[in-house]
Parts: sequence; C-alpha cells; structure tokens
Amino acid sequence: MADASHTFTQWQLTHGQFTQWQFTQWQEQADALSINGLAFIHGEYTHAQGRETFECRSPIDGRVLAIVASCQQDDADNAVIAARRVFEGGDWSRMPPRGRKDVLLRFADLMEQHSLELALLETLDMGKTISNSIGDDIPGSIGAIRWYAEALDKVYDEIAPTPDSELGLVTREPIGVVAAIVPWNFPLSMASWKLGPALAAGNSVILKPSEKSPLTAIRIAGLAKEAGLPDGVLQVLPGFGHTVGRALAEHMDVDCLAFTGSTRVAKQLMIYAGESNMKRVWLEAGGKSPNIVFADAEDLEQAAKTAAMAIFYNQGEVCTAGSRLLVEQTIYDQFLQMVVDEVRNWKPGHPLDPESKAGAIVDDVQLKNVLDYIEIGKGEGAQLVEGGCRINEESGGYYVQPTIFANVNNTMRIAREEIFGPVLSVIPFTDEDDAIRIANDTLYGLAASVWTSHLGKAHHCARRLRAGSVWVNTYHGGDMTAPFGGFKQSGNGRDKSLHAFDKYTELKATWISLGARDSLSDRIS
Ligand code: NAD
Repeated sequence: MADASHTFTQWQLTHGQFTQWQFTQWQEQADALSINGLAFIHGEYTHAQGRETFECRSPIDGRVLAIVASCQQDDADNAVIAARRVFEGGDWSRMPPRGRKDVLLRFADLMEQHSLELALLETLDMGKTISNSIGDDIPGSIGAIRWYAEALDKVYDEIAPTPDSELGLVTREPIGVVAAIVPWNFPLSMASWKLGPALAAGNSVILKPSEKSPLTAIRIAGLAKEAGLPDGVLQVLPGFGHTVGRALAEHMDVDCLAFTGSTRVAKQLMIYAGESNMKRVWLEAGGKSPNIVFADAEDLEQAAKTAAMAIFYNQGEVCTAGSRLLVEQTIYDQFLQMVVDEVRNWKPGHPLDPESKAGAIVDDVQLKNVLDYIEIGKGEGAQLVEGGCRINEESGGYYVQPTIFANVNNTMRIAREEIFGPVLSVIPFTDEDDAIRIANDTLYGLAASVWTSHLGKAHHCARRLRAGSVWVNTYHGGDMTAPFGGFKQSGNGRDKSLHAFDKYTELKATWISLGARDSLSDRIS
C-alpha cells in the first residue's frame, strides 16, 4: 500500500497551528489518508504468509479503515528467525551506544515529522479524541523513544568491591528477542514504553499490536527502518491474541515477553512461558483504582474536576482510571453533586472535532461490556445518578454517556471488576482507616490518589496504599522519569524511567583473577 508521507508534507508545514484546525479540516485530512495494513517482517512490509486478513473498523462510524494482515504461527516463526539472526550478528545489539542513540533519535524525529498522520490514525482506529492523540499520545510516544535514546549512553555498569587480586564486573547485556504484546487503549504510547528501553538496550523487538488498533504500530515500523534500524530489529505482527500473540508467547526462541493488557491474558502468558522456555514475562495489567477525597481537601472544586477527568478521560479506557471514587461521609452528597456537575464537560462528541473531550468506545464488544456493567450496577442496587445509555447510535459508532453510580459498596461487581469504560462508582467512607481498608480491598494495585490538605495524612495514606503509583492532590500525574507498574494482580516489573532497563537486560557477573598478590587486602579478605 502507498506510503502516505507525501500527503502530509502540507501538515508538517503547518505543524504548530493544528489546534486552530476546524472539525471539517480534520475530516478532510482523514478522508485523504492512505492506510497501510501490512505486517512488517525483516525490514519489509508484507502480507501474512497465508494471506489471512481481518477488517480494521473505525469505532467513530463503523466504517472499514483497512484490511489488515492477520499474522499466524508461520509469520511469528519467520519474524523470530529474523530477530535472532540480527541479534546474534550484532549489527544492533553490539552497535556502540552512541550509534544506537543516533538511530533512535532519528526515529523519534521521524515520528515527530509524522505526528499529525499518527494522531489521525490513532483517532480513527481507536476512537479517542484528536486533541488527546495530538496533545498526549503521540508526543508522549515520541518522548519515550527520545528519553531512552538519550539515556542509553549515560547508564554505567558496576565494578564489584573485590580484593586487589580479583576483578568483579557487573554488566548488563541485552536479553535477546523481545515480544511486546500491547493493548488498544493507548496503542502507540504502550508500544513506545516498551520499544524505547528494549531497543535502547540492544534487543530485537517483535511488536504485536492489538487487533483493535494496529495502525500506528504498522506505520512506525517503516519510520524505524528509515531512521536506520537494521532489518529484523523492529518487526510488527498485526493479528489476534489467540493466534500470533500466543505463537510468540509460546515460542521457544523468544527470550522475553513484555505485555500490557488485561489480568486475564497476563495470567495466560505466565502459563505459556512456564510451558515453553521460561522466557521472562513482564506484565502491566488491569486496575480498579481508588481516588480518595477527604473532607479536609484544600480545593474540593479542583478535586471534583479531577475526579471527573480521572474516570472520563479517554472514555474511561485507562488502566489507571479512577473508577472508584471514595468520598468522606461528611461531604458525600455535596461532593457527589460537584462531580455530577462536571459531567457536562465529558459528553462524547465526534473524535475528529477538536472541541470533543471524549470520543468513541473502541468497538461493539467493548460497548456491550460497558452497557452490561451498567445493567449489573442497577441490578446490584447502586443508584444511577448520571448517564447510563448508549448515544449517537445513528452515527454507526459506539458512544456511551459518562455514567455515575452513587451509594456503591465495595462488594458490588461494579466496584470490584474492571469495566474499562466511562462508569464511576462513588463509595462513602467514615475515616482514614476505613478509606484505606476499602481502597486496598481489591485484587488490583495499579494506582491510587488521595486528596487532603493534611501533610501527615497524605504521607500515611501514600505508605499504606498498595499501589504502584500514588498521587496526592492530583490524578494521572507522572512522566518518563518515574516508574510505572502494578502491585498484586496489576502486574510486575516497571515501564518508564531507568528501572525499565531491568526488564530488557540480563545482569552478568564476570569474575577475573588478576593473579596471586600478597597484598594487605588479600590478607584481610
Ligand atoms: P487484552 O489482555 O485483551 O489484550 C492485550 C493484548 O494481548 C492484545 O494485543 C491481544 O491481542 C493480546 N492477547 C490476547 N489474548 C492473547 C493470548 N492468548 N496470547 C497472547 N496474546 C494475547 O487487553 P485489551 O483489552 O487489549 O486492553 C485492556 C486491558 O489492558 C485492561 O485490562 C487495562 O487495564 C490493561 N492496560 C494496562 C496498562 C498498564 O500499564 N498496567 C495500560 C493499558 C491497558
């Protein structure tokens, strides 16, 4: 399929002024888009070996965007052979750090030059708003690649504190062939959080995007090659989890699985690894995060605004969504009303309209899932105070009103299970102990937030909350400098920050005898 880059020359020239674009201008650009649905194996765009395909539909209106290669076992085998060959050859894995850095910086630059195209693909494919794609997802993804490119020649290995007669080197080596399996809610961001450190460390990466949102992953593969990444270092295999995803997860020559997705599939991957070659398995999984508001919060208005953003941003399709809002009993009614008042800002609109703050649900399956949970909440006796319905059905797309349930208790399914949509459960609590008890009473441990003006209380709560990220008087905070990941069944390992290198490197101890010496340090050791 045609390379769309020439179509976007004009866009690049206007970069910086896109926010002034009108809805119709975005639509025109969307209509002009040429979309590639091929796999990228050993440096070439290609059909799946058996020519299997699937339709990639837009959740905005249900129209077919592209016919996408549906990779299978033999495609996975070919990609692993190419990845292994280039890894052993050393063209990338042993390239001097400075060289890898230059290539990855060029890759980030090319992504930036194509950021408007990438933003459009992300919005059409996944249904998130164009302002989110262009303002958050795409710059964040570029930033991740750049951050690890910049970091890679600043990370030093260690020398062990040995006697004079010996030398102990503690070095990090790339792990080999990494299969990165990612979800649909932040397609390019989740991929970039893995590609950045895995490529920077010298690995070969096979990226398996979600079948619901494969388009940006496919697009950046060609940009990586243009940037100078040797063939086989980054390959992209679109397709389904139970076919190509499973083939990679069970493969005897894949060294590491870097996964982001549901807890259910995460558990499955641990089994695949255990039953195959014991490959390393790093899991970023689901969440049911508590957002705790104490009566002594300094700015309740800000807390209410943020509580709405915490659940309704990206249509609630966020692993760290603040889906359980815990409110101190004394301000419960007042605060609930303040959050309900915020809903008017989060009504879904056409995702290509720059005024829209919320867009479409990713597909009909997820739409049904969300609507089913709304019925479950009603059936459990929670009080529906806002939303609860599908809207804009005539568009052919999948839109759900921001929905709020009051008087939820933490034993209800809507408080325990990840809905992954714009559905908020508001739960009362009596005091700090009660809040922490409810907050931690979940199988997940991805994120939590506390709103209070009391410094000691903020610190106590942060320590007691069993979550990988804790925010105080904010929500969804963080950047590349801070690690991100889960406690409990939200996963293991960390994306982002220098800690992410732990996933993609093996630690080696090299012990060297320097010959016998009758030195003081030898005698006292
Ligand atoms: P999912 O688990 O259904 O799918 C994730 C990926 O795994 C997809 O690429 C899918 O094709 C693949 N897959 C599915 N079955 C597989 C199998 N048997 N073998 C190999 N691969 C398989 O998740 P999803 O619906 O795409 O995404 C939503 C989930 O992702 C939510 O639970 C959300 O919380 C989670 N998520 C977590 C984080 C995090 O950082 N912790 C970030 C974003 C999303």
